[in-house]
Amino acid sequence: MKFAIVGAGLSGAVIGRELAEAGHSVTIFESRATIAGNCHTERDAESGVMVHVYGPHIFHTDDEEVWHYVNGYQRFMPYQNRVKTTSRGAVYSLPVNLHTINQFFGKTMRPDEARTFIESKSDQTITEPANFEEQALRFIGKELYQAFFEGYTRKQWGLDPKSLPASILKRLPVRFNYDDNYFFHRFQGMPENGYTAMIGAILDHRCISVRLGTRFTPAEASAWDHVFWSGPLDAWFGFDLGRLGYRTLDFEMFRHNGDWQGCAVMNYGDADVPWTRITEHKHFSPWEHHDGSILYKEYSRACEPSDIPYYPIRQINEKALLAKYVARAKNLAGVTFVGRLATYRYLDMDVTIREALDVARATLSAIAVDQRPPPFHVQMD
Ligand code: UDP
Repeated sequence: MKFAIVGAGLSGAVIGRELAEAGHSVTIFESRATIAGNCHTERDAESGVMVHVYGPHIFHTDDEEVWHYVNGYQRFMPYQNRVKTTSRGAVYSLPVNLHTINQFFGKTMRPDEARTFIESKSDQTITEPANFEEQALRFIGKELYQAFFEGYTRKQWGLDPKSLPASILKRLPVRFNYDDNYFFHRFQGMPENGYTAMIGAILDHRCISVRLGTRFTPAEASAWDHVFWSGPLDAWFGFDLGRLGYRTLDFEMFRHNGDWQGCAVMNYGDADVPWTRITEHKHFSPWEHHDGSILYKEYSRACEPSDIPYYPIRQINEKALLAKYVARAKNLAGVTFVGRLATYRYLDMDVTIREALDVARATLSAIAVDQRPPPFHVQMD
């Protein structure tokens, strides 16, 4: 069969490869001049540092098959994300761990003491946290919430944390030991030659052709046996019901000779510091040596039509609009919506790959019995 895939990011590449391996012909349309979507990495000519062009991407997963999958296309080097945060003139360790708690409260507590102490600070009247703020007050209490999460979250999302889902905070653990690994997954690492090289290797198959700098319009869909769309869901419909809300990021690049901040990612918890975090890219490749350094100061703001969408906001307004687009999409045949933008979800890389593998396999099973793949392979209600 002849498949068109729109977008050469993780979803498009993984689906394309699975279909190509099964002998189908795959054409990938990518409007940008580069593959790899927002995972795109590029070596900085001046310093030689591998830059995460669209912001920090750290690969972590509990999914053994996905870990083997990515390792099949690129060597993953040991990397553990250890994030720091600057708040009210002091530097602390994230995620909130025993070091953070002892430093913040000026104490020398052992794990059980800290647990009891934080419980005494937390709001036990909140049994079912209904939003981001309640989740924080329930699990870490007011002081830590205000120092590390309230200001950062307002800057990152442009919203009152009371109107954000608790699930955003559930991404971060709270630890009563000195483990400062940002993630709790079994597997974590960084591709030796960057994500673009990894995705390039996935796309390197005789049945796959990639058309860079080429926009695909839904009107062209009938020329293909099936289309996989990883662009924004509302873009498929020409935004005719309105636009789903996103946050976009601006990066202010600066250089330094030497080591500017001593870690890859420094967050800024204070509301009056306009950026959310600073990334020093060379620390993502600790196995390399570079004298020069390139850094990104990261600012978050509302995404305008001409901006790159990063984070789906998924607030009440967006949910109502999303439901309308989803209802329309469900009546379509010949197209499957995949990935972060087309399913409008905050997806980590490993989940994106897992879903892409599942979609591709379900597609192969469907066409084997002459059925058309459905528009969605994930729960969209
Ligand atoms: N967050 C925060 N302070 C921090 C780090 C994270 O308030 O120092 C909140 C913020 O709302 C953020 C969410 O936790 O959007 C998830 O953080 P994560 O580091 O997973 O964000 P990502 O790296 O995906 O942007």
